[in-house]
Amino acid sequence: MIKMNKINKSYVVNEDEPLYVLKDIDLNIEEKEFTAIMGPSGSGKSTLINIISFLDRDFEGEYYFSDQDVKEFKDNELSAMRNQNVGFVFQSFNLIETDTIYENVELPLLYRGATHRSAKPEVLSQLEKVGLLSKKDQLPSQLSGGQKQRVAIARALANKPKFLVADEPTGALDSKTSDEIMTLFKDLNAQHGVTILMVTHDPEAARYCKRVIEVKDGQVIG
Ligand code: ADP
Ligand code: MG
Repeated sequence: MIKMNKINKSYVVNEDEPLYVLKDIDLNIEEKEFTAIMGPSGSGKSTLINIISFLDRDFEGEYYFSDQDVKEFKDNELSAMRNQNVGFVFQSFNLIETDTIYENVELPLLYRGATHRSAKPEVLSQLEKVGLLSKKDQLPSQLSGGQKQRVAIARALANKPKFLVADEPTGALDSKTSDEIMTLFKDLNAQHGVTILMVTHDPEAARYCKRVIEVKDGQVIG
C-alpha cells in the first residue's frame, strides 16, 4: 500500500545550513500491518508520518500509495487523499469539548455528506467497537484520558480509512491506560483488519505492534 523510496527531507532554518531531517528513507507498509515507528525525540518520526499521511508533499524521493505517485497530486487531490484514506489519532485527543461523544464521532461522517440519520448506524457501531456506547451523550470533559482517546479512535475510524495514523497516542496517558489503548489497537488490527501506523518513543507501547521500525537521526536503523 505504502511504498517509499529514498525519501529525503530538509528544513531551511538558516540559509547556509539546511537541517536534514530524513535521509534516504526506504519504507514499505502493506495493508493490515500494525507498525510502530520508534526513535528518540527529534529523530524525524513526525516529519515522516506527515509525509505518509499526505500532510506534507515537500520531500525528495518517491512515494507511491496504492501505486499512485503522491508527488503528482495537486493540492486539492492531496487533501482528498487524506480525507479518504487516513484516520488521525493524536496525543492530545483533539476532541470538540462542546460536542457530545456521539457528535464527535458523527462529525467526520457529516463532513463527508452523510445525514444525521444515515450516519447513525456507523457512529453507534464505532462507539461499540471502542466500548463507549454507554457514554455517547456525555461531554469529553466527563471522560478520563483513556476514554477520550477511545472516542478519538472511534472518530478516526468512522470514515473507514485505509489506515490509521497515531502520533504518540499514549503520550498523555499513564502506563495502565496506555496498555488499555494499545490493547484496543491490537484488537482493532487483529479482529477488524485495521491497518495501523503509530509513532511512539515508548518501548512498552511498541511491544504491542507486529513490526517496529527504528528511526535515528532521520535514518531507518532497524
Ligand atoms: P520527532 O517526531 O521524532 O520528535 P520531528 O519530525 O518532529 O521529530 O522533528 C525532526 C527534526 O526536524 C527536529 O530537529 C525538529 O526540530 C525539526 N523540525 C520539525 N519540524 C520543523 C519545521 N517545521 N521547521 C524546522 N524544523 C523542523
Ligand atoms: Mg513527533
